Amino acid sequence: MKIQRLTDQKLSELTGKCVAQEKAASRKLLVCLYEVKRRRLYSDWGYPTLFKYLTQDCKYSEAEAMLRVNAVALMGRSPVAKEKIESGKIGMTTASVLERGIKAKEKQDKLEVESSVCLNLLEMTEKCSYRQAEVMLQKALDLPAKKKVNIALSEEVLAKMEKVKKYYGEMNELELIEVLLDEKIREINLPQRERKSFASETSRYFSTRIKREAITLSGGKCEKCGSKIHLQYDHRKPYGKSGLSHKMNVRVLCLGCNQREAIKVYGIDFMGKYLN
Ligand SMILES: [Zn+2]
Repeated sequence: MKIQRLTDQKLSELTGKCVAQEKAASRKLLVCLYEVKRRRLYSDWGYPTLFKYLTQDCKYSEAEAMLRVNAVALMGRSPVAKEKIESGKIGMTTASVLERGIKAKEKQDKLEVESSVCLNLLEMTEKCSYRQAEVMLQKALDLPAKKKVNIALSEEVLAKMEKVKKYYGEMNELELIEVLLDEKIREINLPQRERKSFASETSRYFSTRIKREAITLSGGKCEKCGSKIHLQYDHRKPYGKSGLSHKMNVRVLCLGCNQREAIKVYGIDFMGKYLN
């Protein structure tokens, strides 16, 4: 078919058809990505997160990948959200704005946003453009405007940041600061029993000594996908299946790979209750 020879009418029809097809394909892709995330299947493909799979394997830009990751996260919040996105009542960009807003609210209040509030927001944003949705969310969730902090960094500090960024892999300065702060907060919040050097082998937790040895042996990386972020100590033979907290039974996995392994052991139906 020679596009140049089409009549205006035919070209108009064809363009409309292509738009509909592209939108349908986007919705179908989100449904697939939702299921990939539910199963943590990206871990078997060598990625610690859906975001990494989308940017590194699918070659989406970071912004494009984030849109999809956020829309998928919103689908996981309720069957209604999933249906609205699947049916196209809520577009991908609006879904992403909604998820970002809800997440910001949860971070601010340190409390999960109730499902009734989510449902209300879904109804309110259904016919909104994403810009309208942004304004509406700001008001509805009473979100504070982001604080702008200007800091001047010395060459020395910038060089240090570059070094740490290289260690963690692709991320911007803001993500790096958040990862480092999260790690520190996790360390501070560790329950006392986890910090003990000589935790019992039958305890759920590995001792500090075993963890230190394991992290050294793994080179500070997830044993499965190589990620250096959100690392956890996992029982090779699951604790729930009588695996001991012994040094021969420890391995370092990132959060995504750890969850995928748990799904393989306990099944998606069981684990689905604990993951979102
Ligand atoms: Zn991993």
